[in-house]
Amino acid sequence: MKLYNTLTRKKETFKPIEEGKVRMYVCGPTVYNLIHIGNARPMIVFDTVRRYFEYKGYEVNYVSNFTDVDDKIIKKAMEEGVDAKVISERYIKEAQKDMAAMNVKEATHHPKATEEIDGMIDMIQTLIEKGHAYASEGTVYFRTRSFPEYGKLSKKNIDDLEAGHREIKVTGEEGKEDPLDFVLWKPKKEGEPSWPSPWGEGRPGWHIECSVMSKKYLGEEIDIHAGGEDLIFPHHENEIAQSEACNGKMFAHYWMHNGFLNINNVKMSKSLGNFFTVREISEKYDLQVLRFFMLSAHYRSPLNFSADLMEASKNGLDRIVTAAERLRSLTGTQAAMSDDEKAVLAQLEALVGKYEQAMEDDFNTADAISAIFEIVKLSNVSVSENSSKALISKFVERIETLCGVLGIETKRQEMLLDADIEALIGQRQEARKARDFARADAIRDELAQKGIILEDTREGVKWKRA
Ligand code: AMP
Ligand code: ZN
Repeated sequence: MKLYNTLTRKKETFKPIEEGKVRMYVCGPTVYNLIHIGNARPMIVFDTVRRYFEYKGYEVNYVSNFTDVDDKIIKKAMEEGVDAKVISERYIKEAQKDMAAMNVKEATHHPKATEEIDGMIDMIQTLIEKGHAYASEGTVYFRTRSFPEYGKLSKKNIDDLEAGHREIKVTGEEGKEDPLDFVLWKPKKEGEPSWPSPWGEGRPGWHIECSVMSKKYLGEEIDIHAGGEDLIFPHHENEIAQSEACNGKMFAHYWMHNGFLNINNVKMSKSLGNFFTVREISEKYDLQVLRFFMLSAHYRSPLNFSADLMEASKNGLDRIVTAAERLRSLTGTQAAMSDDEKAVLAQLEALVGKYEQAMEDDFNTADAISAIFEIVKLSNVSVSENSSKALISKFVERIETLCGVLGIETKRQEMLLDADIEALIGQRQEARKARDFARADAIRDELAQKGIILEDTREGVKWKRA
């Protein structure tokens, strides 16, 4: 299996640290809002990487964090006049709902930064003891020049960085020895969440969180560390400096980065305001379509989001689901496979091989999907009611498995969109007003059958998916 390693800028053959096992860390979202579909790209892409490793028989320890202490969370909390925890807890729950709807498997561990503060203090202390960090008036900085390999991931030259930094003087950072140094611990400001530490009340910097959570759940040396390409510098560069300076070991063997999801060729981001939330998309489409759309491009390529491409993905996915449903509806004969059928089976297996070859080549899901379309075509021309049961079930099994590795379901689900549910709830309210309780109950039952649970509360009707 080959994967592109940002560290070496080459496709490399994957060699695990421990035979048959993969230790993988994916930087998760900062939870101050609903996740947007740009954030969904790494979730979907790296979940697919995980699923392919599992398909190949690896046991994957998959860790993905929630960054639940951050300036943006604090700002939002102040705007709403609530505790930062209220904001982060709310958006962790919402992110988990979206992830489930996108068929992103639950991580082996989903650590939250605020629950790992002790580990962060320990690592910062070790870095100070080893001369890689220093405290200055409640702030702790990493001494960047003490780590000679700084810049090895982003291929940045430390002297160029220094020159760039010299011009920018940031107030409040007078205690810095060198403009290149970055923050590991920052002192408390009024109204902000904080924890006691040997350097006073404060909170951790963002980079130290991932170094610590990765170490705790995966060990000092891991196989794969992943995230969006905007994280290469400074986030991942700083993680390497912290972890390697602290542990004296190579941190991650392979660094994988997804390209951006763009709108009109501009990065989709909250700060630019040009984004769609996953929730908005779920009002129009089954999120399986979003997943299929994301995987229709190579994960390292930029991907432009458009209504046309979503429609194309919807149709493509529908073609696969229709073929799988047709195959499942066939009874077939009890006869043994004929020679002709054996030839068809050999073609099927060759296409499975093609799919695997695409995935083994740095997870080329676009080509893997093409192989699935070829299987669909083959099934449409070569498998019918007159085929043997044995051949039919082979096709069903292969299509289900290969789609399953991409996290795509092949059963037609009568997916009710949020808007349909709201409409039905509205009709039920009307029926109740008109004292037509039979009709109101019938609507409740219809929704229940489709996995929608209603709850009558004082604030009105609430619903959730079972
Ligand atoms: P954030 O919440 O900004 O820390 O982002 C969480 C993850 O989403 C990181 O891995 C980012 O690199 C990734 N990400 C954010 N925006 C995009 C985008 N437009 N396209 C692809 N990945 C993105
Ligand atoms: Zn991270």
